[in-house]
Amino acid sequence: MLSRVCRQFVRHKHAPDHWSVVQKKNHPVDKALAHFDDFYKQVFTNKWEFMREGLLGKQKYVAVINNYSDSEATMAKLELQGALNVRTLFNLQKEYIKERKARSEKKRKLAEVHKIDKELDAKVDETKPDLSLEASLENAEIDERRLVDSRDTLSGEILHEFVPATKIKGKDDFIPESTHYKFYKTDKFDITVIPEYDINFPEHLNIYCFEESNNSDFDKARTGSTGVLNYYLMDGGSILPVLALDIKPGNKILDLCAAPGGKTLLAIQTLYPDSIVANDVSMSRTNRLYNIGRQFLYDFKERWLQTGKLQITNIDGRYFPKNNFDRILVDVPCTTDRHSLHENDNNIFKPSRVRERLQLPELQSELLVNALKLVKKGGIVVYSTCSLSPIQNDGVVHMALKNLWEETEIDVVVVDLGPALLQTRHVFKLASKKIMKYGHLVVPYLPQNYGPTYFCKLKRIN
Ligand code: SAM
Repeated sequence: MLSRVCRQFVRHKHAPDHWSVVQKKNHPVDKALAHFDDFYKQVFTNKWEFMREGLLGKQKYVAVINNYSDSEATMAKLELQGALNVRTLFNLQKEYIKERKARSEKKRKLAEVHKIDKELDAKVDETKPDLSLEASLENAEIDERRLVDSRDTLSGEILHEFVPATKIKGKDDFIPESTHYKFYKTDKFDITVIPEYDINFPEHLNIYCFEESNNSDFDKARTGSTGVLNYYLMDGGSILPVLALDIKPGNKILDLCAAPGGKTLLAIQTLYPDSIVANDVSMSRTNRLYNIGRQFLYDFKERWLQTGKLQITNIDGRYFPKNNFDRILVDVPCTTDRHSLHENDNNIFKPSRVRERLQLPELQSELLVNALKLVKKGGIVVYSTCSLSPIQNDGVVHMALKNLWEETEIDVVVVDLGPALLQTRHVFKLASKKIMKYGHLVVPYLPQNYGPTYFCKLKRIN
């Protein structure tokens, strides 16, 4: 009798891969999705649906051309495959913005002229003048408003100047924006926000992408005639934090959380830095920095390591020692939202990593504070994450600025890249500035499926 009951039980037990068994398991990726659904829906409201679709969909990559391989031939080949140079796309959009501004400025001036004409006509009617041409010329009052500076004519050069929208709207434009800084008021500390109107795209940096809605894959990179790979594939969003650094020739750079090294390599490809320190706290991940060096940098040991042009260090970034850097990238550990939805291995939503996850904002903020202490006066720090979380993004920037304001004499301004980023719109989908206080956010969206990448540019002025 007992054995019959057991047999029945065994018969009804499902195999481990049966849908009902699989469905019941709560993997880290499921936990991550549930968490994001709860949290991000409140933040991004109806836009979350598109971002979610993007995060779960196929990620897009860009190809960073390796200047130490056969760069010309590689670019020609990618162009034949239909890939587009990101710099060219930015420049085209910049031209378009310039023309549109010129057109609207012309319209505004014409409207002004019509208005003055109307006012003059009304004046003439009032005084019932002699309408002969001679009498009009003799009696005409000179209206100063019609004396137009020759440079300021409708066809003049001035109309072709790029005048960004925020500038046109004038200073007042920043008053409504300042309402986003309520936080500051309650926390009683001041911050200056300065707008930036252009992206400095280093002349030797060449990055290729496929146009919006074209989800083609790049072929695997190939070893060229110098023995190193011809391009590096990375999430397109990752190029913006490096461009935001505005690297100049001769700069001394620190990449505080550098492994596996994609952004370090991108900075190197500008050919501008005098030296780069690529640091990471994790020994195993630091090894990946050496791998990238060997794979992409010709004569890696002799030309890069032995000359000190590239130094790979293994220090906790919160305690990285004092050194005057011109530029520091703080690409912190975060919830890596896209990875967390696709890979169970090494997933920060694993129950065993709850504590680490909850402590992320504190760690991120300490890393950023140290970077702002390490950078030179006049130097730039870019903070970045690959998360949509406003806590890990603007929240951390806020915490770090508050800490510096309260505990140090260091003065930092936030650089608002909003106007400059208008030129990136055919490549990236950016979150509305209305929900951001300090930084910018590339959001996943199927036709331009990069990111998430949050980045915030800070300039130390004292
Ligand atoms: N910037 C890298 C790139 O573009 O390839 C990705 C960096 S990844 C998002 C974050 C890195 O921060 C990880 O490699 C992690 O080991 C490192 N990290 C975590 N805590 C750190 C700390 N306290 N100091 C320095 N690096 C740290």
